[in-house]
Amino acid sequence: MRRAEPWPRAILHVDLDAFYTSVHQRDEPGLRGKPVAVAGRSRRAVVMGASYEARSFGVHTAMPLHEALRRCPELVVIPPQQSRYREASRQVQAILRRFAAPEKIETVALDEAYLDITARTRHGTSAPEEVARRIKYSIHTEVGLTASVGVATGKLVAKIAGASRKPDGLVTVLPGIEADFLAPLPVGAIPGLGPRTEERLRLMGVRTVGDLAHHETQRLIQAFGAGGALLQRLAQGRDRSPVVGSRPARTISAESTFEYDVTDREELEVALRRLVDRVTRRLVADGVRARTVSVKLKLPDFRLVSRQVSRTSPTDDPEVIFRAARAALERSHLESRPVRLIGVGLSGLEHPRPEVQMTLFD
Ligand SMILES: [Mg+2]
Repeated sequence: MRRAEPWPRAILHVDLDAFYTSVHQRDEPGLRGKPVAVAGRSRRAVVMGASYEARSFGVHTAMPLHEALRRCPELVVIPPQQSRYREASRQVQAILRRFAAPEKIETVALDEAYLDITARTRHGTSAPEEVARRIKYSIHTEVGLTASVGVATGKLVAKIAGASRKPDGLVTVLPGIEADFLAPLPVGAIPGLGPRTEERLRLMGVRTVGDLAHHETQRLIQAFGAGGALLQRLAQGRDRSPVVGSRPARTISAESTFEYDVTDREELEVALRRLVDRVTRRLVADGVRARTVSVKLKLPDFRLVSRQVSRTSPTDDPEVIFRAARAALERSHLESRPVRLIGVGLSGLEHPRPEVQMTLFD
């Protein structure tokens, strides 16, 4: 065995297997082992997802439903249920956030994401493949679905690796062998390379990714412009495209206008409590915590008064947030003037650090 090279970057591609139909087969045992497709009911409906059993009949995504039924008359057709797919996707996203910060998770679709786990690997706490194995295990035991995961130094190779052994696969391409891994594949395996480019490459004598990697660069540039050089870099396994994750919103706020001007502190606190509940629900749904709670009041002459209270550690506890909001209200409502509008804002939003959660997890 050759000596392991260090990972310049460690990228995972996580893809749930036959996502839509797997959700239905998970929930309805009678559907397991059967050819199942998710599709609308209209005459022009197309297949949104097909189970592996259906795929063995030649049924696949984006195929017209009437064609799918011709190929597989016993096909069980289920209307799409978006809320169930979103719920499963949300659970999987929560699992992924235990392994990488949200800015290092790029969600491509409900069932597909890239993770940049380089930081974890640098600290030497776990090998990339070990992280991949834990993610698969958590998705299987907590969500009841299987995922295929590709592990590589870049997104392209990770995606192709993961797709090469579905379902329930785990394929690692070690640093330094990216080009060897890609070489025997047909050029069409490069995501985004369409049939027309594939045909033009074929006419140039380029059939495999390896052919593309070794082709004369100048001729590729003549044929495809700057894109030709980029394509060749990908074929050589030199893929630096970053994982583009999500950033938390900057603030979450809510306000309500009174039907009449309010001076009574208790009445203001009741309104404040309702607003805090509202913003805290959104905070929790976004998976973030807030450091700063602010309260604003609009007076009958339309003047705005606002005060804020900051905490040293971020929180998503509604009681803690309410106490901070009440403290801010006390500071802004000193003279018991009438109030026509009250608002609450949460800022200094942060995602909980996955490192801390991993320590608990370990
Ligand atoms: Mg999938």
